[in-house]
Amino acid sequence: MPRYDYDLITIGAGSGGVRASRLAASLGKRVAIVENSRTGGTCVMRGCVPKKLLVYGAHFAEDFQDSRGYGWSPDSPDSFPAHHWPALIGNKDKELDRLEGIYHRILRESGAAEIKGTGKLLDAHTVDVDGKALTAETILIATGGWPSMPKIPGIEHVITSNEALDLPELPASMVIVGGGYIAVEFAGIFNAFGVKVTEIIRAGNILRGFDEDVRVTLAEEMEKKGVHIRRECVVRSIEKTDGRYSLRLAHGDILETGLVMYATGRAPNTAGLGLTEAGVVLTGKGAIRVDGYSRTSVANIYAIGDVTDRMALTPVAIAEAMALVRTLYHDDPTAMTYENIPSAVFSQPPVAGVGLTEAQAREQGPVDVYISRFTPLKHTLSGSDEKSMMKMIVDKATGKVVGCHMVGMDAAEIIQGMAVALKAGATKAQFDATIGIHPTAAEEFVTMREPRPEHGAE
Ligand code: NDP
Repeated sequence: MPRYDYDLITIGAGSGGVRASRLAASLGKRVAIVENSRTGGTCVMRGCVPKKLLVYGAHFAEDFQDSRGYGWSPDSPDSFPAHHWPALIGNKDKELDRLEGIYHRILRESGAAEIKGTGKLLDAHTVDVDGKALTAETILIATGGWPSMPKIPGIEHVITSNEALDLPELPASMVIVGGGYIAVEFAGIFNAFGVKVTEIIRAGNILRGFDEDVRVTLAEEMEKKGVHIRRECVVRSIEKTDGRYSLRLAHGDILETGLVMYATGRAPNTAGLGLTEAGVVLTGKGAIRVDGYSRTSVANIYAIGDVTDRMALTPVAIAEAMALVRTLYHDDPTAMTYENIPSAVFSQPPVAGVGLTEAQAREQGPVDVYISRFTPLKHTLSGSDEKSMMKMIVDKATGKVVGCHMVGMDAAEIIQGMAVALKAGATKAQFDATIGIHPTAAEEFVTMREPRPEHGAE
């Protein structure tokens, strides 16, 4: 008789939990995965995937406008197709159902048992699932994160990205509080669908932590498209009357709007899991503290993904899962490396980057900065005033490219390729020796010849 019911119990069936569970199960391990919501987790059910579908949907508004310069003309000025929001939400929901079905299937086919319910640690080897105790040699916590909001009067009236993806109808106007990934992505989506969007940020600019040229360029482009960004602005309280919202701002102004969304960060889902009682140490921010092998302070309990607050990105959680399975079941201790992880913000226009920002690179030594701002070829005829910006940061001492950043059409698709080059340690000379594909925006990265002069504007 095995000592435990399972070799591995995973709590949380998001991207990281599912990957670790199905890989372990396919190796013949006895695996159970416990989930109290939809299988697929944040990314698939209430994050990346539905968000990107809405981004695609939103883009048609501009595409219809852009088509005029290419000779497409409506029969009458307002005969471009009208948008039916509930149809988009319905189709998106059908796709999520399909994806959830695929997740169920891959877990089933790998041999992992899905258990619906809320998991809670009773001790280092026992998980309670709604009153039933299950034991395992190894326990993996992959419970992700949840939107966090400041506790101000009236905060109960606001929505988060969870509800924004399921709105029954669009408001005429909307306030989005926050300047991070989620806030700028949803500002772009709702603005394109015709909602009058005001984005309120407490800092001087959006996207703290991103390269300065990226922050400035994206804010300018968003404002050109009609998003009103209110900087250095703090909301004190929110009142709701007759379906309208009044925001009292720190300097006394009152802002009226049709809907309020908060995107002020996400917090690790650690409450109610019995973690501290089982001896699992949390960080000051409430995340699970892990070592380089995703091991917690309890030797047989591991944690991966957003609940560890290392880098809240789906591909990172998946990579952590794969490293963990190697460590646990291939006798090959594998630590994740967090260098040169690319990421994208699906704003309008999109942003993507890999490696160091200019400020980070300068802290490490002298750099050459190459920057290019241009009107994408598509917009020479479309009449759109959208600009693209591409930037490359090169370490002067080694000639290595240490950062690539882009704001503009197809940024995420382009930067994925750059990420391979940076991972391989490519030098500027190797970029220069690479032949471009013409005519593309991507070729700019291999044709940047003159560094930006030091101490001054370009
Ligand atoms: P972020 O941490 O990216 O941004 C939070 C924003 O909220 C910041 O602008 C911050 O301002 C602001 N903020 C925080 N607290 C307050 C407050 N009390 N009052 C007003 N503003 C506040 O969080 P998100 O929620 O946007 O996203 C969470 C994470 O999810 C991201 O960091 C990312 O890792 C991941 N994600 C990734 C995506 C992608 O890859 N495309 C898409 C969506 C999410 P300040 O700058 O002043 O601190």
